[in-house]
Amino acid sequence: MIAVVGSLNLDLVTPVPRHPVPGETVLGGDIAEHPGGKGANQAVAAARLGGQVALIGRVGEDDAAGVMAAAVRAEGVDTTHLVRTPGVPTGRALIAVDPSGENSIIVSPGANSRLTAADCRRAGEVLSLARVTVLQQEVPDEANHAAAELAGGVVVHNPAPAVTGAVPPRRVDVLVPNRTELAALAGTPVPRTIDEVAAAAVKLRGADAVVVTLGGDGVLLLEGTARLHVPAFAVEPVDTTAAGDCFCGALAVALAEGRTLEQAARWACAAAALSTTRAGAQPSLPRRDEVEKLLRR
Ligand code: ADP
Repeated sequence: MIAVVGSLNLDLVTPVPRHPVPGETVLGGDIAEHPGGKGANQAVAAARLGGQVALIGRVGEDDAAGVMAAAVRAEGVDTTHLVRTPGVPTGRALIAVDPSGENSIIVSPGANSRLTAADCRRAGEVLSLARVTVLQQEVPDEANHAAAELAGGVVVHNPAPAVTGAVPPRRVDVLVPNRTELAALAGTPVPRTIDEVAAAAVKLRGADAVVVTLGGDGVLLLEGTARLHVPAFAVEPVDTTAAGDCFCGALAVALAEGRTLEQAARWACAAAALSTTRAGAQPSLPRRDEVEKLLRR
């Protein structure tokens, strides 16, 4: 089993002719609603790839709560430990997209910001039994810290988004930052070359292994003194939204199945590459047979 502790957001996406400046109103196009949030995306990614997944998180008691719970449940994710929070809205992301594809995003965490260490303790049995527990930074540190302590299996921490002042849990087995998140943790400029990425990653303390996702450059894996670059799969990307979430969900599935970190990283690169070939967050997440097919190519 895989436990994902994290956020659920209803994404509200509006096309805009251009982004408003402060004080300005811009008329946009029709709004679209999609289930999102890193926790929910990673849970759906893992479930679609064949993982047995439980999602630990908080939603409100509004309509969005029902939409979000139904969306993850439809993928077979166990929502027993999804807590309803009276008087607080479900998390939402307000996303404006201009004609060039550039977006600006406001996340209102709502119920996600109310996830507590006690919530994780109530899910203690799931966390202790899970082969892999996946964490990110759209819920309070105290929840992540408690989950990492309770986890019986491998702890994968995706320090995303890069939150100033966020403190990763003390016990992390595999840290999965992208370049920006790595720079935030290491206190360096955003590294560009593989050597710069490796130099920044060695400044990190605490994780047994670091897997830095590098977009179209694949991943750099650092374990002890070993360093391995796994190139990205050659695909034609149309939308890289949730590629990182897909990678983390897929990595969790492969690790839960007993693959080595190197094998798991390669498998997750295949899944994440496929997710970039389709639009959207959760709709873009691939199924297992698609990943296996890409790996045979
Ligand atoms: P994030 O979305 O968190 O910024 P990345 O952009 O690093 O994460 O992407 C995560 C993973 O998705 C990469 O490590 C890679 O395996 C895959 N990926 C992203 N962009 C591409 C691309 N253009 N081609 C192939 N794979 C990609």
